[in-house]
Amino acid sequence: MRSAPCAFVDPMLNYQNRIFYLIKPLIPRRLQLFLRRKLVQWKLPTVRQIWPINEKAVRYPEGWAGWPDGKRFALVLTHDVELARGHERCRDIMALEKQMGFRSSFNFVPERYDVSAELRNELTRNGFEVGVHGLYHDGKYYTSRKVFQKRAVKINQYLQEWECVGFRSPSMLCNLEWILDLNMEYDSSTFDTDPFEPQSEGTGTIFPFIVNSGPSRKTYVELPYTLVQDFTLFILMKEKNIDIWKKKLDWIAEKGGMALIITHPDYMRFNGEKQGFEEYPAGYYRAFLEYIQERYAGQYWQALPRDMAGFWRKFTTDSA
Ligand SMILES: [Zn+2]
Repeated sequence: MRSAPCAFVDPMLNYQNRIFYLIKPLIPRRLQLFLRRKLVQWKLPTVRQIWPINEKAVRYPEGWAGWPDGKRFALVLTHDVELARGHERCRDIMALEKQMGFRSSFNFVPERYDVSAELRNELTRNGFEVGVHGLYHDGKYYTSRKVFQKRAVKINQYLQEWECVGFRSPSMLCNLEWILDLNMEYDSSTFDTDPFEPQSEGTGTIFPFIVNSGPSRKTYVELPYTLVQDFTLFILMKEKNIDIWKKKLDWIAEKGGMALIITHPDYMRFNGEKQGFEEYPAGYYRAFLEYIQERYAGQYWQALPRDMAGFWRKFTTDSA
């Protein structure tokens, strides 16, 4: 089995970010936003060489034979549902994507709000995927091995009960070795490059990879996200267009990598809704999907994360 680049936790890295996330629950939401915006502004000039594109992240896997059906690049759409308000908007996103012929995954936080079994069933019935997004949405998963192991027991129960094969950590904090405790096919808590995340070390690749370290000999597929998160783009940076998404997508398409995006229904404002202070028009996301369809018709493999994980596992096994 092939081993791969991994982003294991270095506790000394990203010091300012870590302090901020530790005290974050004590800070009112509007002040949190203000501070995070300042952090982004402060960091931006220093990371231009690696964000939104890190040219070094094009590392073709050994034996790479390309995407299914000879497609030029792969496209994976995912959503993290942070709060009840996002839960209420999942059907709007499902309708939008379905109408345009796309399918995606929705990751829910099991013990933060009520996750409707009816909604989960509706999503899967319609060809969408459901995943588990932590247990609670705090930053404590990786503070100690014991904490993680305790939570892993419950996360595994939800993975089984919901019949999910995918996991994503809250706030993209992760320890790829510890995640081997989870009984799933893939994790998607990392990114090729995102210096604005609390644990800002990227995996440095726009392809999936297999994680197989640890004494248990278990393995899973890691699916790093490769497009800028909506929250970073529209709420923290206050962008009023999707140019950065387009630019990165064009680059991934040119290199033949995996375009994996995370958006959050919580922050998307649909028609007729009153604008909240941390929301952006859902039209931006629609425009992104239209851009892909118009510019790259017939050139991309649109996969659910679980199908991507299955494909990757087969590819690495066959080419071993
Ligand atoms: Zn989240």
